[in-house]
Amino acid sequence: MEGKMNAVYMTKPEAGAWEYVEDAPIPQIKDDEVLMEIKACGICGTDHSLHGWNEAIANSYNIQFPAIFGHEFSGVIAEVGPNAPADLKVGMRVTANPVLFDNTCAYCDKGQVNICDNRPFYGTDLPGAFAKYMAIRGSNVIPMPDEVSFVQGALLEPLCVALNAVERIHPEAGETALVMGPGPIGLLMVAVLRQAYGIKKVLCSGLANDVKRLEVAEKLGAITINGSECDVVEKVKELTGGKGPEMILDAAGHFTVVQQAVEMVAKGGRIGITGLPAKPSTIPMTPIAMRQISIIGSRAYERKHWRQALNLMANGLDISLVSNFVLPLSDWKKGMELIDAGEGLRVILEP
Ligand SMILES: [Zn+2]
Repeated sequence: MEGKMNAVYMTKPEAGAWEYVEDAPIPQIKDDEVLMEIKACGICGTDHSLHGWNEAIANSYNIQFPAIFGHEFSGVIAEVGPNAPADLKVGMRVTANPVLFDNTCAYCDKGQVNICDNRPFYGTDLPGAFAKYMAIRGSNVIPMPDEVSFVQGALLEPLCVALNAVERIHPEAGETALVMGPGPIGLLMVAVLRQAYGIKKVLCSGLANDVKRLEVAEKLGAITINGSECDVVEKVKELTGGKGPEMILDAAGHFTVVQQAVEMVAKGGRIGITGLPAKPSTIPMTPIAMRQISIIGSRAYERKHWRQALNLMANGLDISLVSNFVLPLSDWKKGMELIDAGEGLRVILEP
């Protein structure tokens, strides 16, 4: 398709160097790609960090400037390349996996496309969805049922992150979980634990600037802990009869989280690491052996988590509280300010 579109570019590797334009070229698709008309795209913590130019995060990608970010999106197919999967048609409502896995390595063979040997990412390494149109490999595109709105569709990607993280700590009936960090991913973990796995007792901890986020966690059914008003480790032990939760999920990405988690997890418990702390953690190893603790990493999502996420959403998983602001793409700056103020959870932009 020829023509111009609106888009938000990051023009150079410098804090705040984002620019809204209305004369960006519409991307030309390759034979195996489709052109998606983007209807909704969430501002992820990664986008927020890239806007503030966090070099540690930026260095984990291969960003070409000017860059278009945005990797949590939904929309409608506008054009289909001749070699894209035959079931994709113009007008279909879709979302897509932003991991451009190679489909040839041993990990892809097992469905573990998240840890593929060669996996550029749409929205950082490749142009993303803070734009009216986006070109994406057809085999990454996933049709959405009518019950899932475009705004909900933009939450599927972070929901997949939460599904992988929760699955990897193997929840069992009757166990207690603690989610550390009430950002959007933490809140989605609370929702998945409660609504998908039926875990009745879910604790969620945060800090002083998380008060509004902890209110949402409470509405999602969590018992909340404000770490600026109490000692989190003491409070968690008190709330679990002294033994600690069997499952702890790090959704904060601060280097102290895993230290606290080792202190308070139950014997035989599992600690899931999803956050990306900038500094290394120091943790005592003896309790990990003596109390038989497992520490388990999780990255992004496997292929199956998209099907799970769509099924859960189509069957009434309620995570609408997480996408609490929907703005036009031109208002991206307001979205950033809402996130800075601790008010915006997943801010969704509409091109
Ligand atoms: Zn691979």
